[in-house]
Amino acid sequence: MSSLPLVFDAPRRGMPPRHLADLAPADRAAAAADLGVPKFRLDQLARHYFGRLTADVDAMTDLSADVRDKLRPLLPALVTPVTEKSCDDGETHKMLWRGHDGTLAESVLMRYPDRATVCISSQAGCGMACPFCATGQGGLQRNLSTGEIVDQVRQAAAAARDGVLGEPTRLSNIVFMGMGEPLANYKRVVAALRRITSPSPDGFGISARGVTVSTVGLVPAIDRLREEELPVTLAISLHTPDDELRDTLVPVNNRWKVSEVLDAGRRYATTTGRRVSIEYALIRDINDHGWRADLLGKMLRQHIGTSRVHVNLIPLNPTPGSKWDASPKPVEEEFVRRVRATGVACTVRDTRGQEIDAACGQLAASHSG
Ligand code: SAH
Repeated sequence: MSSLPLVFDAPRRGMPPRHLADLAPADRAAAAADLGVPKFRLDQLARHYFGRLTADVDAMTDLSADVRDKLRPLLPALVTPVTEKSCDDGETHKMLWRGHDGTLAESVLMRYPDRATVCISSQAGCGMACPFCATGQGGLQRNLSTGEIVDQVRQAAAAARDGVLGEPTRLSNIVFMGMGEPLANYKRVVAALRRITSPSPDGFGISARGVTVSTVGLVPAIDRLREEELPVTLAISLHTPDDELRDTLVPVNNRWKVSEVLDAGRRYATTTGRRVSIEYALIRDINDHGWRADLLGKMLRQHIGTSRVHVNLIPLNPTPGSKWDASPKPVEEEFVRRVRATGVACTVRDTRGQEIDAACGQLAASHSG
């Protein structure tokens, strides 16, 4: 499968300048020396950035003007909002943003009764080429840096705190389900996961339980993630239990087959103790057949085990020019029933953000921008 656009560590082309959020705490001393300030100044800066969610050096009035000037290069503007749109009675908020080099990407903030979630991007574009996904149609532009990933979270957390969702809300959940394949930008995504989950001043202190990394199923990267001692939730975009169809729906299946991906899911669940989510976009007359629901349940029982897995059905969000559509409700209900009959938990995800092109698979900033 040499024709697959599998990019594990794409070139650094267009990567942004270094940012505080790129630094592991252990790197701060060297960065401080570079800037000519004592290390505790970087810790102060980190407390502002991660603890108070501010990236405006001039607002940090506990620092002298001289110190602020020296620290300024560590907070370059990475993620500059271009447009913002709300829908679902203000409970869904999409942000289109621009990187330092003009790259466009998107994040979506959503409020639910019990939580607030931001869906963030890990790459500008995506190289995985899934035919039903808008992002997949444009190819990969570049990886996002750790700072660009982390700053999406900071801006979303600040916006939620400041009431953009209607009332002040604490950001509790992060899902890597925006643009890009997170495990194809492995090192930067893992560094971002550490910044997101470490307590302030090293990070935002968001519980790893509230963080989900969603992947097409890059098996070696799933195994690597398992060893990171970051018990984030793993979501596998399966979309069908049979290799023949999955080879076309998720082209990376030509490299790692359904059973190999599910086995990696089991290893992940065993090591981390976390239930694995199986993402399944229901597409009318393509993957919504009863026999596929039965087979899905059977495969998940066999390869992962019913107590360690949960199926998340996503009604397909049609993308421009696509011939595909969501399954009719009765078909969806029958699918859920048959998966549950195998003993596997199964729920249908509510579709947010459809009318502002903010729903799963609709993010395609390079075109809409
Ligand atoms: N590359 C990662 C994360 C990004 S997509 C992955 O594939 O998991 C997040 C989820 O949205 C994936 O499960 C993806 O398959 C799904 N998705 C993509 N396009 C969609 C669409 N048009 N309708 C519904 N879900 C879609």
